[in-house]
Amino acid sequence: MKYYSTNRQSPEMSFKEAVVKGLPHDKGLFFPQHIPTLSAAFLEALPDMTLPQIAFEVLQPYTVPDITPEALKDICEEVFTFPIPLVEVKKDIYSLELFHGPTCAFKDVGARFMSRCLQAFAEPDKPVTVLVATSGDTGSAVANGFLGVDNIEVVILYPEGGVSEIQEMQFTTLGQNIHAVAVAGTFDDCQHLVKQAFSDPELSKEMQLSSANSINVARWLPQMVYYFHAWGQWRKLQPDADAEVTFAVPSGNFGNLAAGVLARKMGLPVKFFIAATNLNKVVPAYLESGDYTPAPSVATIANAMDVGSPNNFPRIQEIFNQDYQALKEVIKGFWMEDEQIRETIRQVQQDDDYLLDPHGAIAYSSLLRQLPDLGTSGIFLETAHPAKFKQTIDEILSTDTPLPEQLQAFLNRPKQARRIGNEFSELAALLHEQHKLFTAS
Ligand SMILES: *Cc1c(COP(=O)(O)O)cnc(C)c1O
Repeated sequence: MKYYSTNRQSPEMSFKEAVVKGLPHDKGLFFPQHIPTLSAAFLEALPDMTLPQIAFEVLQPYTVPDITPEALKDICEEVFTFPIPLVEVKKDIYSLELFHGPTCAFKDVGARFMSRCLQAFAEPDKPVTVLVATSGDTGSAVANGFLGVDNIEVVILYPEGGVSEIQEMQFTTLGQNIHAVAVAGTFDDCQHLVKQAFSDPELSKEMQLSSANSINVARWLPQMVYYFHAWGQWRKLQPDADAEVTFAVPSGNFGNLAAGVLARKMGLPVKFFIAATNLNKVVPAYLESGDYTPAPSVATIANAMDVGSPNNFPRIQEIFNQDYQALKEVIKGFWMEDEQIRETIRQVQQDDDYLLDPHGAIAYSSLLRQLPDLGTSGIFLETAHPAKFKQTIDEILSTDTPLPEQLQAFLNRPKQARRIGNEFSELAALLHEQHKLFTAS
């Protein structure tokens, strides 16, 4: 498969080049040259296929010839090691629980898949240094996704004091090939430092730098697997229902929803998607008015979606060939304020004995309100374990929410982080030193 840039000013790249580069020169997004369709036999077999089997079938056309079928099979088996159950919450409303991975959030899948791809591409004597800035969740998913992967070291920059205790624990306690760096500054300062590192000629001569941000095709594409798997599980429960379902997707940067829309384009029977957001409602507003107006982000209790300028949205427009009407027929918008999120979490806990996280709560609500008009069953994506937002949930429900095992394990390990100011020279010195240690070991 070849990948072109959505801005069309960069040359086409192979899967390998797109993964290693991350971003085309023209600042567009890599997009597959053609979208394969899956057979009716595949859809029929879906309910009885395992996650690694589904992942292999779906991702093979996107990764050949850079990753051989044998290698892809191994990667899929290493990545999809935890369950993704589909749970009925109310009649016709199902939760797809994407939070059973190592950091209890759906980003685990993409991060793990990307780490194995980079490993497959790294030359034995040329280790890759992955440099990421995080405001919390990306750091933990990337750190855990790359943990112990040979020939790759990860350096994570985060704003000192600017991430939650649990988030910090998830990337500062791992050791091995994962190095956390607390920056005396904001998340924007961290991102700025990363950008400087990528454009520094000295550093790129010395080491192979790579980013692991959410627009990388190796993080984006494997998310399609959730939708195929969910549909298969739902079919098993509802073999006689009309084949088309509606997916409600809690969205921030819109990578996850873009993957769902691509899955539909490949042949998955989906009637509608609901783009469910918090107060950062650029996309729902666009669906209503036709005006696409990115804005500075607003802080909410569904903070993993506090994105004012969703960087994956152009991929969705590309799938619809920039046809606004066609897009509007398939994607519906929905947004909610914090107080409504709190009310939903309280209500569903009380009525249905199901604990929602703040992100999933928005998507659940969108189904409750819109399904009667849409006339299908609905599946919402539960993108994180509620206990990841323990403080918020405890306040809403006046409870003491227990942490799942995966998260508890982090709390018992010592925190290790270097500290730097927000001068680029300090980061450069640190990378230089780290790299020398790594190549010597
Ligand atoms: C990242 C994240 C989202 C948003 O996903 P996008 O692909 O950026 O739209 C939603 N919920 C949680 C819990 C997240 O961590």
